[in-house]
Amino acid sequence: MNRVRAAAPQLAGLVPYDPKYLPAEAFLSANENPRDVDGELRELIGRRIAKVPLNRYPDPLAGGLRDMIAEANGLDRDHVLIGNGGDELLFNLALAWGGPGRTCLNFPPTFSVYAANARLTNTAVVDIARTEDFSIDEEAAFERLAAGDIDYVIVASPNNPTGLRCPQAFIERLLDATDALVMVDEAYFEFSRQTARPLLATHENLVILRTFSKAFSLAGVRLGYILANP
Ligand SMILES: *Cc1c(COP(=O)(O)O)cnc(C)c1O
Repeated sequence: MNRVRAAAPQLAGLVPYDPKYLPAEAFLSANENPRDVDGELRELIGRRIAKVPLNRYPDPLAGGLRDMIAEANGLDRDHVLIGNGGDELLFNLALAWGGPGRTCLNFPPTFSVYAANARLTNTAVVDIARTEDFSIDEEAAFERLAAGDIDYVIVASPNNPTGLRCPQAFIERLLDATDALVMVDEAYFEFSRQTARPLLATHENLVILRTFSKAFSLAGVRLGYILANP
């Protein structure tokens, strides 16, 4: 057949994301670290890669790496999930907690990937606009959550693109106010040093997203992880 039926309707008109990078030293829109990893580390990585059996599938659950990340965070392996960049984990979240008939709560302006993933997975998005100083309109959020139909919430802290941290008290109140899955996107945790991690012990609905792309200068590796209840 020399024609093909249309893809899923929510994809109609979707344009591939092309950042159109121009020659420059720093790409502020990508938020990469402008400095590459140093020579010694680069050599170490090269030596380890030289020993990888390229004919074999890797461990799909990345057990060894999960152990190391778990240990660094005072958790066990089954609290850690690895992704091909944080972006893959964000997409998986939308696949697993979103979908037709399901709804996510979003606080724009924030990372545009959240809304894009909702669209790709046919998840309804409820936007609660930030206030004039870009903080979250907390009372509006709780009022909307009280309706009980929100399936997941994503809070970036520090937020991209505003740089603001989200108050810990709000995150804790949010986790207590709903059984929706609450993802705290800590892509910039290494800069803020503020984490929701202690709340994992008491809140089964908390998921924390981290990445090696920003502070660790490893955007080229495409490695992100989540910390969460198993
Ligand atoms: C960069 C970023 C991520 C994830 O990036 P990856 O390179 O896919 O790991 C997630 N959230 C925010 C807010 C970011 O800025």
